[in-house]
Amino acid sequence: GEIRIGLGSCCIASGSSGVKEALEDTLSNSGINVDVKQVGCVGVCNQVPMMEIHKPGEDAVYYTKLKSEDVGDIIQRHFKSDGFMNRFKSRFYNYAENLTFSNIPLSSDHYSVNEADTPIAEFLKGQINIATEYRGEIRPSDFEEYKSKEGFSALEKCLKDLSPNQIIDEIEKSGLKGRGGAGFPSAIKWRMVNKVQSDKKYIICNGDEGDPGAFMDRMLLESYPFRIIEGIIIAAYAVGATEGRLYIRAEYPLAVERIREGIKICREKGILGQNILGSGFSFDMEIFEGAGAFVCGEETALIASIEGKRGIPQLRPPYPAEKGLWNQPTLINNTETFSLVPWILRNGSDKFCEIGTEKSKGTKVFALAGKINRGGLIEVPMGISIRQIVEEIGGGVAGGKKFKAVQIGGPSGGCIPASMADTCIDFDSLKEVGAMMGSGGLIVLDESDCMVDIAHYFLSFTQEESCGRCTFCRIGTRRMLEILNKIKTGKGKLEDLDLLEKLAINTKKGSICGLGQTAPNPVLSTLKYFRHEYEAHINGTC
Ligand code: SF4
Repeated sequence: GEIRIGLGSCCIASGSSGVKEALEDTLSNSGINVDVKQVGCVGVCNQVPMMEIHKPGEDAVYYTKLKSEDVGDIIQRHFKSDGFMNRFKSRFYNYAENLTFSNIPLSSDHYSVNEADTPIAEFLKGQINIATEYRGEIRPSDFEEYKSKEGFSALEKCLKDLSPNQIIDEIEKSGLKGRGGAGFPSAIKWRMVNKVQSDKKYIICNGDEGDPGAFMDRMLLESYPFRIIEGIIIAAYAVGATEGRLYIRAEYPLAVERIREGIKICREKGILGQNILGSGFSFDMEIFEGAGAFVCGEETALIASIEGKRGIPQLRPPYPAEKGLWNQPTLINNTETFSLVPWILRNGSDKFCEIGTEKSKGTKVFALAGKINRGGLIEVPMGISIRQIVEEIGGGVAGGKKFKAVQIGGPSGGCIPASMADTCIDFDSLKEVGAMMGSGGLIVLDESDCMVDIAHYFLSFTQEESCGRCTFCRIGTRRMLEILNKIKTGKGKLEDLDLLEKLAINTKKGSICGLGQTAPNPVLSTLKYFRHEYEAHINGTC
């Protein structure tokens, strides 16, 4: 048997390292010989520390919200006293809350659960794991285990059987769009870089995640380093790049550590370096640790940052595909985009197209946070509604309060009211209602949240992160914040709302990069759907 314990950053922050230490102490003191498997993030951040006990021929048992001091007792009961577990009819035991749940046929095959009323099963139900394939089942840095689950088979297939153009055709047929925010078709970028003649081309994985409330990239980098590396190498082969950089925030030390280890192992195994898998293709990559500037998520600023310059976005064209890192053609995609690539090449673009909507294919990873019962990391099919995410996966609003809105897409996104919760999650539908997919932050708000405060919070963030190059982004956002402050403190006037709107529109138009172009979205969407709250502040009725 084996005992699985998730050790992503969220798990560690909630005490999972202590649980693991207690587990190892118990096992060594009692002489019980069972494999302790340190797995990546399961995504059920609201239930950690979590420990799964897998014994041959028995259903797995899940302990959630576990405390270190209870580990010894649990192990003794499982491995020393045979009859103990008969007292529990369930496979799920919430230790902290002393609850038992009904017996659920939870399939280990991507946890597709049909019948459920447990926090974990309900949370996982309706999710599809592509970027998060084998979530909670594999050791992040175990090369052999990754290989045993078809890891690197897509790379082998590409290097042996497919030409770069055939790979790009397959990506085109899959309809894959960049998951970093803008949703640009990946195949167009790949083809552009492929077509440019150059002795040197680069590839960059953008893992500079800076949105408040977002942790998708972090979780993917920590939990699936080999999948991301595989996706990058496939893309490098398709576009003809020979060098890569993984731009990861320095504030993500565990992600940096796991990727560094993954790169080292891949070099040892002949997956990176000269003549990869005997194909004649050579490619290698390095980590670049970003220093936490939100604007460096913008691709031209990110390139400047790698080159040792100040991270300031540049006017495009030329696009990085033509003149990127060190003025060479460069492909930049987001972490999640690369993590989808091996699955698409392994299973075929048709399979990927079966998931999602007509124009938005596949899945999207979201960091579900805020006033929600079951927050965590989720991967859902495109086309799912906001309501399904909040009510079914997230278990509704916490504390029995009323669902008010979701802030989707981080500081670039917008607030969608509960009355529009049937809006589908896809690139176009979200834009139509004044929000955007963004990189995948999804914050649930309840009736006690003030929408003026929310707009103020996100605008303060972008205002502070503005690089200052464009007048509207630099000064327009500051003036907008001043107006919001006036309104918040009861000193606002009704005509301020028109000025606020005008400034917001002009800031969108007058900014050269995505930061400034989207910074007013939280203000505009709250003005559109919650204008009465602004008016209540002004009239002194709230
Ligand atoms: Fe800098 Fe803002 Fe202009 Fe972007 S929009 S370049 S962040 S000033």
